[in-house]
Amino acid sequence: MLRKIANILSESCDENEICAHTEADHFVALLSFKNQSEAIRAVELLDNQFRSLIQDFKLLLSYGLYEIKDTTEDMNAMLDKARTAKRTIKGNYENNIALYSDEIHQRMTEEIELSSSMEFALQNKEFLAYYQPKYDCKTEKIVGAEALVRWKRPNGEILLPERFISLFEKNKLVIKLDWYMFETVCEFLRKQIDLGNPCVPISINFSRVNNFGQEFVYRLISTAAKYDIPRRLLEIELTESAFVFNHDKIVSCMNSIREAGFLVSIDDFGAGLSTLSLLKDVHCDILKIDKSFLKNSKSSLVLDTILECIFYYSKKHKLLTIAEGVETKEQLELVRNAGCDIVQGYYFDRPMCEEDFLQKLKKRNIQKLPAFKSTAVELGISNN
Ligand code: C2E
Ligand code: MG
Ligand code: MG
Repeated sequence: MLRKIANILSESCDENEICAHTEADHFVALLSFKNQSEAIRAVELLDNQFRSLIQDFKLLLSYGLYEIKDTTEDMNAMLDKARTAKRTIKGNYENNIALYSDEIHQRMTEEIELSSSMEFALQNKEFLAYYQPKYDCKTEKIVGAEALVRWKRPNGEILLPERFISLFEKNKLVIKLDWYMFETVCEFLRKQIDLGNPCVPISINFSRVNNFGQEFVYRLISTAAKYDIPRRLLEIELTESAFVFNHDKIVSCMNSIREAGFLVSIDDFGAGLSTLSLLKDVHCDILKIDKSFLKNSKSSLVLDTILECIFYYSKKHKLLTIAEGVETKEQLELVRNAGCDIVQGYYFDRPMCEEDFLQKLKKRNIQKLPAFKSTAVELGISNN
């Protein structure tokens, strides 16, 4: 296969052009064109030839192009740029040709900069926990909150997780970040309990990259013990996509976490990778219905029925349900009428800093999470 590809590629080069096999299944070529669109057309033609060669195999070819403007540029730097462009479309079935651009350059530079400053940022306490309250659908009182990470850069800019979480998942730094957030929440709860302030359970997101073995459960237990926090005030959120890989290990870990007395929730339920059989295996306390259900949608027979079915299932199995991304009164009514227990969304509050969250807790009545599952115990601590 590699030889055949090499042959096609060499035949397409004229005497002033050059191609080579660099390593594994990677090839490079230095070709001349009048302009970018001509270059793309030529690569498409090449791609057609390769496709007829590989049609019986499950192979996906991708191409990264870099237009050389400065011929004195270092050859390795040129190749790196072509490779960088290719990386942006890896695994993409619809578009397999990428052209290196300033935007890609900027993104890659930013990624390198963020990755290299993360360790220091942790020590420097640049990561902050923002809190987004969760409201009981019926009483509209606060029953909990989710801790969401924000990165306050030394220049004052606040970065949202979408800018860095997937990056940190690649180099696994997210594990450190998740535990840092868990500890930050424990510290916060300890302070509130000591001050006699009202407390509600707080959920923390754990990336699927974590190693969900027994060690994970011990670490949760020992960290909660270090701050002497009732485990029922800590909720572990794991996205349903995490279960796709390593299903059995994660299911068993989640079950142990629950048995240890922490709350366990499945985040982004229904976002795409859900298998309903997941519900059969995982003994969780809370299902968080993904915000994509509500995005741009109005009440309709199909949507109402899907939601009603999920909420009906949850009630029957004593699971609490949270609707994420509730932005309008109509959406609140929709999920309330369909039988949802709790809502989280901009309609009530955006994620807020610790001080604002405390003010909110003081001003707004809080209540214990509705009772659920047979083992439900005291969930909220309140001085009201
Ligand atoms: P998530 O866990 O599903 O969190 C909910 C996200 O929805 C948050 O985005 C929140 O700000 C946003 N949201 C809440 N209400 C609304 C609404 O009404 N409309 C819309 N459009 N959005 C709403 P955020 O804070 O940007 O976080 C994004 C994701 O980043 C989170 O999704 C979570 O998967 C991840 N993340 C956040 N903090 C952490 C963390 O400490 N560790 C890990 N591993 N992931 C985190
Ligand atoms: Mg979450
Ligand atoms: Mg979510």
